[in-house]
Amino acid sequence: MGSVRIKRANPLTILLGTSLVVFIVYFLFVPSSSSASRPAPPSPFHKTSTGVRASPPPVVRYDMNSVTVTKDPEQNKEKILILTPMARFYQGYWDNLLQLNYPHELITLGFILPKNKEGNAATAALQAEVAKTQKGPIDSRFKEVIILRQDFEPPLTSQDESERHKLNNQKERRAAMSKARNSLIFTTLGPMTSWVLWLDADIVETPPTLIQDLASHDQPVIVPNCFQRYTNSETNQDEERPYDFNSWQDSQSARDLAAKMGPDDILLEGYAEMPTYRALMAYMVEENKGMHHEVPLDGVGGTALMVKADVHRDGAMFPPFSFYHLMETEGFCKMARRLTWTCTGLPNYKVYHYNE
Ligand code: GDP
Ligand code: MN
Repeated sequence: MGSVRIKRANPLTILLGTSLVVFIVYFLFVPSSSSASRPAPPSPFHKTSTGVRASPPPVVRYDMNSVTVTKDPEQNKEKILILTPMARFYQGYWDNLLQLNYPHELITLGFILPKNKEGNAATAALQAEVAKTQKGPIDSRFKEVIILRQDFEPPLTSQDESERHKLNNQKERRAAMSKARNSLIFTTLGPMTSWVLWLDADIVETPPTLIQDLASHDQPVIVPNCFQRYTNSETNQDEERPYDFNSWQDSQSARDLAAKMGPDDILLEGYAEMPTYRALMAYMVEENKGMHHEVPLDGVGGTALMVKADVHRDGAMFPPFSFYHLMETEGFCKMARRLTWTCTGLPNYKVYHYNE
């Protein structure tokens, strides 16, 4: 074993070391020739096209304590965000939207459309109607309109009702729907939003007072009953039938089914293969109890769904994965409930889905 020896450095080593340090320092602090010749990245505050340097905007303060969420939103000038995932454009949807008599100047519209052929056609049709309305009579114009395009492929090529409702297609489809809804809410929810009204693109008939009526219940999450008008082929009579089965009260059978499932499996409503025996709001109509009769719910549908913005702000979203064996709007209700909010249904208050 040799002892440790301190070697005297020779002048050549010192010279080499010094030049290495100078070399490193040079490359650390001197911009490379390529980036030096590149123009500075555009800054929103330094608009040079006019030669004038714009100053950064002042800090904007939102006093969120003054953003009320009350049973009389019109009186309190509360801002409503109406959100619609839209795969197809229906004129009936737009016409119904225009007849909502909540002050349009307090309404922001948000849409998300898939990036495929059908989505392109729907976007064009939607934009044409938006342009018409926003140039039309001042009272019809909305405060703001935001149109998003989805940055992921929709899983189904066909939007036909039979294809959409096949059991095997449900998990993928509802995951895609959840992501579309999440993108929409996370992009559009503003500091001044009081309420969010989810309204599907194929809801073609609601009372004009939909927003005021739902808000008047002062519930964190509230859902009307979604029906569909049709002509009975035997009697040739105009009739109506329940459409949305996602608003329900839980059952022991459903809990037992869930207990036997794998962690990624989901329960679905309205499929014979999966008898849940949940109490469906679709079948709770009791006209004698009046339009405003309330029932508590464990799952909600999203065809028309009114949510206090604070529920979303707390983090309630649409799980694109199995959340307590639930997804999308049903998972949303579960998540809202885990956040200690409640979900309420109005079985006698009807809105109508387009009949394909
Ligand atoms: P169903 O009535 O329960 O069968 O569901 P829909 O197919 O009507 O879908 C619910 C809402 O989401 C409707 O407003 C559709 O236009 C819209 N939608 C359906 N699929 C997609 C999609 O892939 N992307 C987006 N952005 N919206 C979709
Ligand atoms: Mn629909």
